[in-house]
Amino acid sequence: MYSANYPDILLNNIEYNPELVSANTDYKIRFAFTANDRYDYEEYESLLNSAIREFRHSRFYTQYKSYLYSLGIDRCAFHPNITSDIADLEMHHCILNIYDIAILITEHILNTTGYLTEFDLAEYLQQEHVLNNIPIVFLCKTCHQSYHHRYLYINPNQIFGQWWILMDKYKQGWNRDLLEKLSRYLQRGLDDKTYTRNEYLMKLRDDILSWADNRGVMINELNIKNTEDER
Ligand SMILES: [Zn+2]
Ligand SMILES: [Zn+2]
Repeated sequence: MYSANYPDILLNNIEYNPELVSANTDYKIRFAFTANDRYDYEEYESLLNSAIREFRHSRFYTQYKSYLYSLGIDRCAFHPNITSDIADLEMHHCILNIYDIAILITEHILNTTGYLTEFDLAEYLQQEHVLNNIPIVFLCKTCHQSYHHRYLYINPNQIFGQWWILMDKYKQGWNRDLLEKLSRYLQRGLDDKTYTRNEYLMKLRDDILSWADNRGVMINELNIKNTEDER
């Protein structure tokens, strides 16, 4: 154990994976999460929060919004008259929210490479935005507030981003919670007669079955029917 430059704070495990500990609190800050460590809920949450905060406050985040505006994605998904020139639009991560996406990436990395810091996670979040792999819609303030208070379905046509690539790329990261969210969304999308690319959603529904299988999640507990049922 080494003494850091702050009183009562010690730097532990410095060669391998530094962590800050203090005699005054049970709380410790690890530099990296690895597949073999055990985490409590607070540590895990703090990794997600720090990475997401870092990403949201980056210059990239603002630039990405302007980039989307420049592509003509510049209005509220539910109020086409509310455009970026007259109102502050908010970038909403749909199907999976930004926390879900951060969890998906974290779990995948821990289950594969086995090593992740909050800086890595922030970097992954940014990279996947750069690649346009993140499901996004713009919402006006009112819509955004109402979405976060109750479920608001967004048609797949309205979503920007090749989110199916993200979901496949991090397929070792699916847990029951995330799979349920996605399957609920796909079911809703398949029932939506205004959406015409149903074969596409059906393929994804089959993918989910194999992702669930990979992760050992009991698929019969998920609300997924086989595509066969529909024909
Ligand atoms: Zn949102
Ligand atoms: Zn709106």
